[in-house]
Amino acid sequence: VPGHPARSSPGTVDAAALLARREAVFADVQEHYFDDPPVMVRGWREHLVDADGRVYLDTLNNVTSVGHAHPRLVDAVAEQWRLLNTNSRFHYPAVVEFSERLAALLPEPLDTVFLVNSGSEAVDLALRLGQAWSGRRDVLAVREAYHGWTYLSDAVSTSVADNPAALETRPEWVHTVPAPYGHRGASPARYADGAVAEVERLAAGGTPVGAFIAEPIFGNAGGVALPDGYLAAVYAAVRAHGGLAIADEVQVGYGRLGEWFWGFEQQGVVPDIVTVAKAMGSGHPLGAVITTREIAHRYREGGYFFSSAGGSPVSSAVGLAVLDILRDERLQENAREVGGYLKARLEELGQRHPLLAAVHGSGFYLGPEFVRDRATWEPATAETAAICARLRELGVIAQPTGDHQNILKLKPPMCFSRESADAVVAALDRVLTTGW
Ligand code: PLP
Repeated sequence: VPGHPARSSPGTVDAAALLARREAVFADVQEHYFDDPPVMVRGWREHLVDADGRVYLDTLNNVTSVGHAHPRLVDAVAEQWRLLNTNSRFHYPAVVEFSERLAALLPEPLDTVFLVNSGSEAVDLALRLGQAWSGRRDVLAVREAYHGWTYLSDAVSTSVADNPAALETRPEWVHTVPAPYGHRGASPARYADGAVAEVERLAAGGTPVGAFIAEPIFGNAGGVALPDGYLAAVYAAVRAHGGLAIADEVQVGYGRLGEWFWGFEQQGVVPDIVTVAKAMGSGHPLGAVITTREIAHRYREGGYFFSSAGGSPVSSAVGLAVLDILRDERLQENAREVGGYLKARLEELGQRHPLLAAVHGSGFYLGPEFVRDRATWEPATAETAAICARLRELGVIAQPTGDHQNILKLKPPMCFSRESADAVVAALDRVLTTGW
């Protein structure tokens, strides 16, 4: 690949032999998405190359935000490693600078940054900040959401509700309200009123919530927007009882919707705590919690400990390089423009193919939804799996999502080009026309 920063080639990789040895890897995640997960050996911008040299368009990577193997990111990491990388016990120029730049992306009064290593860690910390602030354990979350896989982030995620074997990991002080879908003919007010009623019920019962956590755009459902006014109503109720509002922007934040934090901005609210990860490190382990100075101080007074590796000089150098690349290559604008173009082209497809009933989301977080019947929204689950398998044969890596696994989650690297968008539409058109 011309200009690729790798100094060596991946050489010949025998994919079959490698897969035969995969027992050593806990392959649950990979095999959740693919019957036969591909072996990838190289990446470049929005392209992935497998062990047999096949090239794919990567539409499911909201982690690698600036694109695979970005030379500037490679250089920034290498240079900070050469200078220094160590634990979080001292102050470092890169860490202070990155924290300042991160805080500057958020509205007042969110000005204090905790750097961690992942989204799950950020969610755990955010929930603990809420508990430290309010002195209360009880937490309210939204069903069908995903917030992470560590003990506490898992406890506020759907996976627990879905899996009886995991029920014991959810403490009785985690409460949930229904997923606030703003589509399928649902009355938006119903969800807000229901959530507010639950907040009041818990307060009246002597267990007011210390924190409410929600994604401001429903990532797991393919980028479904919350009903207008939902967050404002629930935040007000939670705050009236002394609790804090957490916006989990790990999946949809950091520019892929065309603005830094379009999720909560479009709801017209400012949360007390924001969690970020994935895109900010473009594949390097990096997450953050941004909150107010007062809330951060209350946590410190509680005498809690903090991460050793979180906020290392190298992760901060990565964070700075990602911010520079996003700015210099105008990748947010690209997400808005090419994402808008892709959405419009997918909607056109929907006019010709009844199976494709809606295209949720915006920017580079799009969710084409497949149904068997547009009147009843009967999900086309098996069809969506088959469509993804056919797309892969045509060189497009895509994955199903949603409570019925009938929505494609299109969340490509933010450098995704118009030509790549055309290629995705052409491949999907072909699959929907010729069968799956
Ligand atoms: N929060 C949301 C909304 C997510 O989508 C995810 C991951 O998919 C997480 C938190 C957990 O992030 P991580 O996988 O980096 O631990």
